[in-house]
Amino acid sequence: MSRAWYTICMLIDSHCHLIDSQYQNTVDEIIAHAKSRGVEKYITIGTSPASSADACACAEKYPDVFWTYGYHPNEYDGDKMQLEKDLAAAKPLFVSKKLVGIGEIGLDYHFPPFDKTAQIYLLEHMLQIAQDQKLPVSFHVRDAFDDFWPIFDNFHLPKSVLHSVSDSEQNLAEGLRRDLFFGVNGLSTFAKIPHAPLDRILLETDAPYLTPKPFRGTINMPGYIKEIAEWASEYYKTSLDQVAEITTANVEHIFKV
Ligand SMILES: [Zn+2]
Repeated sequence: MSRAWYTICMLIDSHCHLIDSQYQNTVDEIIAHAKSRGVEKYITIGTSPASSADACACAEKYPDVFWTYGYHPNEYDGDKMQLEKDLAAAKPLFVSKKLVGIGEIGLDYHFPPFDKTAQIYLLEHMLQIAQDQKLPVSFHVRDAFDDFWPIFDNFHLPKSVLHSVSDSEQNLAEGLRRDLFFGVNGLSTFAKIPHAPLDRILLETDAPYLTPKPFRGTINMPGYIKEIAEWASEYYKTSLDQVAEITTANVEHIFKV
């Protein structure tokens, strides 16, 4: 009898949102489901001051969960006083030993109307924090790489990740040239997009978003990272073990989980 593959592979969901109003399930249920499919650690990603506080509380409760402080570009309206207040309120959370990064932060010019000036102001503030705290970043950049690269180049960050990139070969090359890693998720299972070499990717689900095949049409779960690992095994023409070993090592190296 052959062993189930997940008894030999260890996976980490490097980018998910465990606390999200879309979930009918409790975090215990989500983790139990994921554990049964080979997932052993989770990085739950903040997208706003409030969701970052939730992510912190979740990580403090569950030993296998880590968190990041994030402020998504679409969550900020350009109010400078408000940003000061938000960041002051976040200070006590930064003593958390489970804090492993800053993100998601970035630029998103996909859905108009958007305020480029506000997004850039926020991104620069967040990058200053990442640089000062020596924390890696989970970047969200969509249709905005021309503005993003010169800003990125102004900061000195630990090795960081561009999450869910579905952009051009050219921007992939720009990211590789800058030593960035790439978060690969369910998008790869149903969309034709360029991919970095295996040794430069991390696996993520972005759950509850971006459900992989064959679960399209349902709410995404961290346990479905198994399907993303299977996709990667096929795409990179290598074993699941090899995919798990390399991508897990990358997450551990970058986020120190
Ligand atoms: Zn996300």
